[in-house]
Amino acid sequence: MSFDLEKIRSDFPILKRKINGSNFIYFDNAATSQKPNIVIDSISDYYKNYNSNIHRGVHTISQEATDAYENARVKVQKHFNIQSSHEIIFTSGTTHSINLVANGFQDLLNDKDEIIISGLEHHSNIVPWQMMAEKNGAKIKIIPINENGELDMEVYNTILNNKTKLVFVNHVSNALGIINPIKTIIEKAHKLNAAVLIDGAQASAHFKTDLQELNADFYTTSAHKLCGPTGIGMLYGKEKWLKKLPPYQGGGEMISDVTFEKTTYAELPHKFEAGTPNVSGAIAFGVALDYLNGINFEKIYKYESSLLDYATKKLNLIPNLKIYGESKNKTSVISFNIEGIHAYDIGALLDKFGIAVRTGQHCAQPIMDHFGISGTVRVSLSFYNTKKEIDVLYKSLKQVISMLS
Ligand SMILES: *Cc1c(COP(=O)(O)O)cnc(C)c1O
Repeated sequence: MSFDLEKIRSDFPILKRKINGSNFIYFDNAATSQKPNIVIDSISDYYKNYNSNIHRGVHTISQEATDAYENARVKVQKHFNIQSSHEIIFTSGTTHSINLVANGFQDLLNDKDEIIISGLEHHSNIVPWQMMAEKNGAKIKIIPINENGELDMEVYNTILNNKTKLVFVNHVSNALGIINPIKTIIEKAHKLNAAVLIDGAQASAHFKTDLQELNADFYTTSAHKLCGPTGIGMLYGKEKWLKKLPPYQGGGEMISDVTFEKTTYAELPHKFEAGTPNVSGAIAFGVALDYLNGINFEKIYKYESSLLDYATKKLNLIPNLKIYGESKNKTSVISFNIEGIHAYDIGALLDKFGIAVRTGQHCAQPIMDHFGISGTVRVSLSFYNTKKEIDVLYKSLKQVISMLS
């Protein structure tokens, strides 16, 4: 199957909208992706035809819902080439996944231990570790970034040592789009027996990752970044780690035996899925993966790279425009500023032309501090965007500049 852009665009109803009188142009894909009809329909199909609580009903629709929910887990397993489906925990998303791991490590670490996090992290990847460290006294060390926004691997080599118990890095930075050298980071950490958690929230939308090959101990993603619904995501964990970590929440579904004296916990993955899960969300997550694999991730990546090249060249034609994080290894994200104009004003005026971009710190204030700026305009492209839309952005930016200067 070839990459049929027109057909793909027709799958996304929201792309037909007009915003402020103009054709809607959605360039905020790193914050959340849009949803194709097939994903939206799977949610209404669930509620219309087999809405039911799962895992305990003897009746027909409960069985159907259970099968669909567990089948979604198998789709996630296949997509990421995960060894066993019980190594996949459905969570509400990456933030929830990271908190689950951080909470688990609270009792496993003490004040003699160290953890390493990268200077490119999303806030959701910093705060849970600070909360953990406050309780168990573990030290947090940072891998700094260079002028291009890339991780300084020499510093990583010096701060990694026998005391390091955990390393946390995102696969792709949401603020700059840079793809981090996680394979090297994982190999080096494993030589010293440190565990590694990779935040794959941004990466999963752009390319496929083989988790057995990668060999990370934990990996997270959020369905809403890859055409699925909000409120659902996954935590992958190697079985040995998921067995070691204590449960995060208590409730129904996660227990095997409850008396007032003692409760024993359910087997994986149910140990970490307390309460009624997001059944329709998990099913739609599976449908989103089917949809993207149907298009083909290699084609998606190739097309998005061509959009990135085109947009980078076009934006570099604008005088006094500076792009942050010009690494060779990056996904289709462009973070920039125009001298003398506040990022927020650019974003607000682009909205008047129907163009949705993000402005501000992108949940990554330490990166902005590194560049000595208060924020950027972020244009994040997806496979349903077009070169024509980038032309409209270019023209609109020139108008915005003449209006503001
Ligand atoms: C979006 C994102 C998150 C947070 O994901 P949620 O779905 O909001 O929990 C974390 N890390 C990265 C790199 C992201 O892009």
